[in-house]
Amino acid sequence: MIPSKTNSLAACVTPVNSTVSAPSPNSMLDVFNANYTRAAQYVHAAPDLLDNIRTCHSMYFMQFPVRIRGEVRIFQAFRAEHSHHRQPTKGGLRFAPHVDLPEVSALAALMTLKCALVDVPFGGAKGGIALAPRDYTEEELERITRRYTTELVRKNFIGPGVDVPAPDMGTGEREMAWIADTYSMLHPNGLNNLACVTGKPVPQGGIRGRREATGRGVLYALREFFLHQDLVKPTGLGGSMVNKRVVVQGLGNVGSHFARLAQDEDYATIVGVGEADGTLHAPDGMDIHEVLAWKEETGSIRDFPGATTLNNPRACLELACDILVPAALENQLTADNAHRVQAPLIVEAANSPTTAEADAILRQRGIVLIPDLYANAGGVTVSYFEWVKNLSHMRFGRMAKRVGIQTQRRMMSGIEALTGETFPSPLSDDMLHGIDELELVNSGLEETMIDAFQEIVSILHQKGTEDLRTAAFVCGLNKVVTAYEQLGIWP
Ligand code: NAD
Repeated sequence: MIPSKTNSLAACVTPVNSTVSAPSPNSMLDVFNANYTRAAQYVHAAPDLLDNIRTCHSMYFMQFPVRIRGEVRIFQAFRAEHSHHRQPTKGGLRFAPHVDLPEVSALAALMTLKCALVDVPFGGAKGGIALAPRDYTEEELERITRRYTTELVRKNFIGPGVDVPAPDMGTGEREMAWIADTYSMLHPNGLNNLACVTGKPVPQGGIRGRREATGRGVLYALREFFLHQDLVKPTGLGGSMVNKRVVVQGLGNVGSHFARLAQDEDYATIVGVGEADGTLHAPDGMDIHEVLAWKEETGSIRDFPGATTLNNPRACLELACDILVPAALENQLTADNAHRVQAPLIVEAANSPTTAEADAILRQRGIVLIPDLYANAGGVTVSYFEWVKNLSHMRFGRMAKRVGIQTQRRMMSGIEALTGETFPSPLSDDMLHGIDELELVNSGLEETMIDAFQEIVSILHQKGTEDLRTAAFVCGLNKVVTAYEQLGIWP
């Protein structure tokens, strides 16, 4: 009944009793296709190759039963592997009530271009289970996640060299640990089992820095943007992130880490945050640590003492600020509200937060937008580092740390001998602490975000694309086309 691997979307979207539906106008698939079509005009490749790259290669729709509080419930779940030109495929797993096959296939397509853009050697993928995590206990979520993993194993939709999930909306380290454990149980003696999923807790094969990687990557994207004054000029902003008034929609994994790092490391001022139950507004700024503590304590951002609470969650998108950071859901900036956005600069930390219509309105209004394809690529970049770590079976920095310290010590001794001075204590401690895994991860992430931005900017200038989104798509697409040509996999 259920096709195991198929490239036909239609074959997967007509299951019995399914909530799966054809893409609606402004669905993520529509948005992806609109962006792809615009970018494809700037790419030199045969039209049939461009059509093939757009197409999702494999999709798996599954329905499985799990006993919940005495009753059997049927769960609908999905995995889309968008492109097999590189393997494994890679992409997040989301738990959300609305998730369906068109959505995961659009997100998987975005992943293919995102991986190419940041030179991560994966094809794109995405998965989901249609459920609201808050409706289930931890133990129930564990059984559902383990059953999902078993279904993926049965159809060969997971594995270190096949397809590697990661956290996304509604999932985190806990779910990734369940996936790794289930996969390992089904592959006894598998040497590389831990590389079947990324975003795991550090003691279970994860990597330091993955938890905050997406939010940190958004910050690096902004830092790089502010170094390009020709791009900054139309926003009317100048300088750096210091004192910039920032609004963040969504205080989950991506939004909370971004907001915290923006405040702590770049001295930005958080003037608004939006969550599912409302918006906080404080024109003079609020302390994000206190907001996060309040949310943790009360289960909501509402009535945070340092800000005004507005009932409408989307009100945050229309607040006066310098930088708007949608970091929650798709389709938040629409034809309805794009005219009222006040921020001159938007950074898409979430995937597909802007509909195609809103994108056109924002462009026409001269609002600069740093696109999801680039802005949130930090997550998959550090997932790649984790995957490499798992395959190498060694923590980054282990081999080089002592050598580095000894080289530093010799250099310091030489300087001390020549000058007759001794390095003061805080400085010498700092110089001799050695480079650890977290520093290497953050350095690799920063380098990746800088390189990718420079490539996007050079496409923007060379090809004259009208915006950063189109330039980012062209950049990713060019690299996928080149991979097809170099690998000789296009007939
Ligand atoms: P998450 O589940 O950790 O957080 C989402 C947050 O959004 C939650 O705090 C939730 O309460 C809030 N939210 C839900 N509905 C909302 C509404 N109507 N208005 C405002 N806030 C609302 O998810 P996440 O992992 O942070 O992912 C957020 C976005 O970033 C998604 O689009 C995801 O695809 C994208 N993304 C995530 C990663 C990652 O590493 N986790 C990587 C790349 C992209």
